[in-house]
Amino acid sequence: MRYLSTRGQTKPHTFSEAVEAGLAPDGGLFLPEKLPDIADKLPAWSKLTYPQLAAEFFTLFAPEISNAEWHQLTAEAYRRFDSPDVAPLKKITDKTYVLELFHGPTLAFKDFALQLLGLLYKRQVEHTGKRLSVLGATSGDTGSAAIHGCLGRDGITIFILYPNGRVAPLQERQMACTGADNVFAIPVPGTFDDAQRVVKETFGDTAFANSVNLSAVNSINIARVLAQCVYYIWASLKLPEHARASAEYVVPTGNFGNVLAGWMAQRMGMPAGGFRVATNQNDILHRFFSSGEYSQSDVHPSHAPSMDIQAASNFERFLYYILGQNAERVREVMAQIKSGAPFKIELPKTSLRSTRMDDDTIVKVIAQMWKDWQYVLDPHTACAFTDMAQDRVSVVLATASPAKFPEVVQRATGSEPTHPTLEALKSKPLQTWPMAADVATVQAFIRQQTSHGTKA
Ligand SMILES: *Cc1c(COP(=O)(O)O)cnc(C)c1O
Repeated sequence: MRYLSTRGQTKPHTFSEAVEAGLAPDGGLFLPEKLPDIADKLPAWSKLTYPQLAAEFFTLFAPEISNAEWHQLTAEAYRRFDSPDVAPLKKITDKTYVLELFHGPTLAFKDFALQLLGLLYKRQVEHTGKRLSVLGATSGDTGSAAIHGCLGRDGITIFILYPNGRVAPLQERQMACTGADNVFAIPVPGTFDDAQRVVKETFGDTAFANSVNLSAVNSINIARVLAQCVYYIWASLKLPEHARASAEYVVPTGNFGNVLAGWMAQRMGMPAGGFRVATNQNDILHRFFSSGEYSQSDVHPSHAPSMDIQAASNFERFLYYILGQNAERVREVMAQIKSGAPFKIELPKTSLRSTRMDDDTIVKVIAQMWKDWQYVLDPHTACAFTDMAQDRVSVVLATASPAKFPEVVQRATGSEPTHPTLEALKSKPLQTWPMAADVATVQAFIRQQTSHGTKA
């Protein structure tokens, strides 16, 4: 299987090369040259455990890693999830199911991809003998999931920048209370954009990046999208057979990575009725799916902070498909987006629709779901509970544990949600490395922390 860039100006990569590169050199995103057809495999796959299913799926996309090794990798990646099903599908009513994606170490769905990515990094270190420095910026969930994917892995040092005082206290604790000596949680002054700028400029200095073998952890890695396809297939196989072909998957959306994975699984032959892109008040994607017009505005912080985005980074992959896999058109449209100018396209008929939810409604929905069904939602998942399909089954993807967002949930339900993992963090010492949002400072720090031990 070869991987091509959405912008068409990068030579084909293998899976491992595409994972290592993250972003394609031409600025585009990697996609498999051709999506495999999985429809005839589904009956056999319905008997597998979650890690087994993930291994069979990944073998189709990266046969250069043996099936036996994929089984080892996925068994290890999902070993620390606290549910035997890994992604349990809970039935709330005859028409509504919730797919709980928050049973991993950091209690949000990003663990599905980042636990596996950490192991792929480790495999790379073993194969090349070169130490790896992983660098990223986060507004919360991605950084903690990335840290827990790399925690304690030999040969990997991870540096995560975040805006000081602007991530949730529990998210900061998840990053800064690991006690691991290969993890550096770095608060910097300013906003997420300032942290992100320092990270981008650090990568832009290629001499430096090569000298410490720097790798990016961000939401556009193709391994992340593929790891997310697996839980849609899993959920589909757990549904009653009569509901599979019509079920609508409802996905709390920010960067469009999660819902894209489901839509791609459908293109591979997973039965599904459709997908709903559920946004918060930062509704650029809702406006796009309603009108075909894509116009950026300012980000307004919401109760669902991991969905507070202005430019959905995985959207380019969707564009590539709906523009008929025409890389030249993708380049034109992406240039237009980059210029900040709004654009409008004739939306082809797809299986996607969208909704939006404001902050007041998020609180009301959490309260109502608790009252009616004794089910506690986190503020991101709450965004899914509007305009439910009446005529078919809905599968809501629950992207985070309510215990990660105790203030909003307490306001809605009257009691504070807790989780043993988070309780344990509260008594651990916080270890951070605050520094200036400055490239030279960050580079000097990375060099200092990676200069001992086996050298590249
Ligand atoms: C990252 C995140 C989202 C948004 O997912 P995308 O793939 O960026 O669309 C939604 N909910 C939670 C809890 C998240 O951490």
